[in-house]
Amino acid sequence: MLFLGTAAAECYPNPFCECPACREARRSSDRRLKRRRSSFLFSETTMIDFNADSMYACGEFGVSLSRLNYVLLTHIHEDHFDYFNAAFPSMAVTPPRPITFFASPAACKGMKGILEAAVKLPHRQLVRQLAEMASISSFTALPAYEATQIGDMRITPVVANHAGFFEDELGYNYIIEKDGRTTFYATDTGRFFNRTMQFLAGRPVHTLIIEGSFGKFQLPPDSGHLNAYSLCETLDQLFAQDTLGPESRVFVTHIGHKGAFNLTDYQSFLDARYAGQVQVAWDGLRI
Ligand SMILES: [Zn+2]
Ligand SMILES: [Zn+2]
Ligand SMILES: [Zn+2]
Repeated sequence: MLFLGTAAAECYPNPFCECPACREARRSSDRRLKRRRSSFLFSETTMIDFNADSMYACGEFGVSLSRLNYVLLTHIHEDHFDYFNAAFPSMAVTPPRPITFFASPAACKGMKGILEAAVKLPHRQLVRQLAEMASISSFTALPAYEATQIGDMRITPVVANHAGFFEDELGYNYIIEKDGRTTFYATDTGRFFNRTMQFLAGRPVHTLIIEGSFGKFQLPPDSGHLNAYSLCETLDQLFAQDTLGPESRVFVTHIGHKGAFNLTDYQSFLDARYAGQVQVAWDGLRI
């Protein structure tokens, strides 16, 4: 498994920003401080989220997407999904594989609505390209809190406290069971809904990947994101209800410059609480 990107929406550094965190990341020769928008390669057939940065990250980290079949979309925000990436498989010299985008019913309905409207526009090049993309990719809605067998994985989406672009769209976080191991990818989340927390109770997770978007930045309690403090509260609850145990590994992703935590400081903050069990991820980290 590979982190293709670990930044919040604007990249880290935000190219438009002159805050100390952005300036430090920009000046540094440590590539771990330079974060692309978040996406995650689960296996050669499956990735989670698919943004513009994912394309370049594949080259940088030596990844081929020629066997990609499944993309689990957390939600429709510009940092998590760029549908126009679906134009590129058919430009490959080798034969493309069909790609299924799995998402919530609201995300699928919203995307279908946009695409149905777009193909009626008088822009022939755009309409041609959309038709080509539709010929090799499709959207499938998954039910929340129910397991669906996809290839050799059992996928169970849980609902995140994070609204996407579309009316009534709430993000999905994904529990992926494969080969007796359970991975839970949770960004973007906000503070977990009670139903989601209860659903996770007593379900052991071997590998948790969770957002830590806002670091030291103060957030309102109803924010659709976590900062370092609400992240710790969430982790503590997951440990207390045995979703996480002593053998679990936790990785923090979707990190933004506003948190004003560089990699070292964020890691020290977490080490003081979790003694090395929780690791701040970076682009290119394989787990
Ligand atoms: Zn995001
Ligand atoms: Zn900044
Ligand atoms: Zn989002």
